[in-house]
Amino acid sequence: MEVIIRQPKKEPKYNRSPALIEAQKRYYEKHKDHIVEQQTKYNETYNSTIFSCICGCKVLNSSVYHHIRSTKHLVRMNNIAEGRLAGSKMADTRHNCECGSVYVYKNAEQHFRTQKHKNYMKNNIKLKVI
Ligand SMILES: [Zn+2]
Ligand SMILES: [Zn+2]
Repeated sequence: MEVIIRQPKKEPKYNRSPALIEAQKRYYEKHKDHIVEQQTKYNETYNSTIFSCICGCKVLNSSVYHHIRSTKHLVRMNNIAEGRLAGSKMADTRHNCECGSVYVYKNAEQHFRTQKHKNYMKNNIKLKVI
């Protein structure tokens, strides 16, 4: 399973002359507090931006790492993989899990907490940051 995380675009790199580097360094020193404050604000904004998960959930960027390991996400992904609506609940349906086990839907949470499943997820979820 691969989850793609889109990062905010970085400014393109360009060659700076020594004089410009000096000037920018001085500018940074002079306005350090302000710049740090701006960067903090930027990070806060990024973290509070909504991320649209492939499972259909909308979560905050700051919660993505937690979300993709949550039962809710795994159940939804499993539904999608088996051609159902992401949010559908079929309590007694049997499911083939990616980890190689079979579990009953209503016991999904229990199954996702098993060591076998956890180990599988730990080794097979790839986060691709682009
Ligand atoms: Zn999700
Ligand atoms: Zn499993």
